[in-house]
Amino acid sequence: MSAEADGKFRERLADATARYRLYLAAHKMFFTRERALILEAALQQSSHFSVDELLFDMHQQGMRVSRATLYRSLAQLAEAGILSGSDFGHGHMHYEAAIGAEAHEHLVCTSCGAVQEVRSEAFENAVKEITGANGFSETSRKTEIFGICAKCRAGKDGS
Ligand SMILES: [Zn+2]
Ligand SMILES: [Zn+2]
Ligand SMILES: [Zn+2]
Repeated sequence: MSAEADGKFRERLADATARYRLYLAAHKMFFTRERALILEAALQQSSHFSVDELLFDMHQQGMRVSRATLYRSLAQLAEAGILSGSDFGHGHMHYEAAIGAEAHEHLVCTSCGAVQEVRSEAFENAVKEITGANGFSETSRKTEIFGICAKCRAGKDGS
């Protein structure tokens, strides 16, 4: 990680930590070392991850955390607005950072389950226009467009 990227990450982590502490205090829970580790590991993920993917990653890094604890903590982080969660129709949750993340949309393939992140300036402008015209201030967004991905349409995905 470059010094600049690292600085940005520390800033995001500090922001997320402050939010998580407020959430935990409001729910009469403590900001434990384990929760701090989970928060940092979750924010370090570059894209969407499932509970099991993060669990595997944390175990690889030698962090011992139970699946049940991770499961609960991620749900708390989503409730606190630090992560955003979606099941993309897979029947299990996926999370991604909501703090400091660039706005993007999701193309979800209903055949192979692949989730592609896409960005469009035209779409961003349309959202600004819609919200602005209604005197609305956007705080978060979840866009999932379901369909068949290019790979599946070409019939190359044999799995
Ligand atoms: Zn999935
Ligand atoms: Zn597909
Ligand atoms: Zn995403």
